[in-house]
Formats: sequence, C-alpha cells, structure tokens
Amino acid sequence: MKETADLYLVATPIGNLEDITLRAVRILQEVDFIAAEDTRLSRRLLQHHDIDTPLTSYHDFSRPGVVARLVGRLQSGERGGLISDAGMPGISDPGYRLVAAVLDAGLTVTPIPGPSAHTAALVASGLPTDRFVFEGFLPRKKGRAGRFTRLTQNSATTVFYESPHRLLDALERLATLAPQRRLVIARELTKAHEEFQRGTVTELLEAQQNRSPRGEYVLLLEGHALFEKRNRQVDAAGD
Ligand code: SAM
Repeated sequence: MKETADLYLVATPIGNLEDITLRAVRILQEVDFIAAEDTRLSRRLLQHHDIDTPLTSYHDFSRPGVVARLVGRLQSGERGGLISDAGMPGISDPGYRLVAAVLDAGLTVTPIPGPSAHTAALVASGLPTDRFVFEGFLPRKKGRAGRFTRLTQNSATTVFYESPHRLLDALERLATLAPQRRLVIARELTKAHEEFQRGTVTELLEAQQNRSPRGEYVLLLEGHALFEKRNRQVDAAGD
C-alpha cells in the first residue's frame, strides 16, 4: 500500500516496548520528522526500534507558532509523524490541536492504530464493552464534583483516567454516589506490575485505603443501566 498522507498519528506502546506495529515502525522510519511530547522519553523507544528520524517537540504548552511551523513543514512537502508519550496520539493529549490545524490547511492525516490505555483496560475489565463512555481525565478541582455526579448517571460502562494522587479522592467520591456499583481499577497495563482490581466501589475503596497508589491508572465504572437491571433481577429472585 502506498502511504501518501502528510501527517501520520502513530500509536506507540503504553508500557511494553514490543507493543508497536510493523507499520508504525516503518512509517516512523520513513517520515521526515517526528513530533513528540517528550523527545527524551521518545528517543528511548525510537532507539529500541532503530529509528533515527529527527525528533521535534510538540506538547500541551506549545505556542501557536509551533503548530504553524509544523504545518508549514508539511505544506512544503515534508511528511511528519505525531507520537505521544504513550498510546494513541490525540487521546487525552495535545494531538487534537495539531490535527485540526493540519486539516484546516487542507492537508491529510492518517491514523496508524495501536495501543491505548482506555481500550486495553476496557476489553479486560469484564464490564460490558458494547457501549462505553470515555470521560478522559476529570477536572482536578473546579467542576470535579459535578463531573463525578454526571458520570455515575451514564447508562453505559464509563472509563476514565486518574492520576495516582487523586485515586483515593476519586474512590471516595464514587463511594458516596454509587457504593454498590461494580468498579475495575486497571493499573500499569502491559508493564511488569500490571494489575486489575475488581469489586464494588466500596470494596475497592477499602482495599485502596491500605496501600499507596503508584503507577498509572484507568478506572472503569459499571453503567447505571446494568446496575439497575442486576438489582431488579436480585429483587425478583427474592420475591
Ligand atoms: N494517549 C494515551 C492513550 O492512548 O491511552 C493517554 C495519554 S494520558 C496523558 C496518560 C494517562 O493514560 C495516564 O495518566 C493513565 O491514566 C493512562 N495510562 C497510560 N498508560 C497507562 C498504563 N500503562 N496503564 C494504565 N493507565 C495508563
């Protein structure tokens, strides 16, 4: 297949360096430059796969001039790859701004799919996967309470990212709002200490109170529709 896009959104591992596709490696070798969030971190991955394409920095705090400069390089005929620190660029990272600018300039964008923490966590969670709501990161302070209230009202499985510093706070909020709902905590996916904890919100809060949060987390909450249905079945069985 002849690859003719201007910008490639290339998925990279979320921990295990082997989780990268053959196509991703080839594209990263072929493009003229790779825009990365943390160039030092990405250099390790690229070296591991013998990729010596020049790296340039693109992150959350990049000024509009950086976006314009990258678009200018593509307009002049160069081909670029965008990678994030981990997983699929554009998922809970600054990829979107660049993609929008590239499309506005009439250039083309192609995804090179691969790992993403939310889908890896979802498929192994044991919660329904036919419909799910991805909430990304929840606000740290302002608006946090309201978002938690709303996400417990989602009818489908709800997936979100949480930092270790706020994990306990998240569990405490969920325990107030939906104590008996099933919850899955997926930690350090694809890494040596990968772990899935499954239980009710209350059970997982109790378990977490005795340990210090470490690593990267995805939380998955049973949707309220399934929870209600399970409760009705329990009630009917009891009648
Ligand atoms: N673009 C990434 C993706 O496709 O998943 C997400 C980037 S976001 C800035 C980083 C967050 O993703 C982390 O704070 C954590 O919540 C989640 N995450 C990334 N890697 C993970 C892993 N190996 N295990 C669990 N969660 C992970």
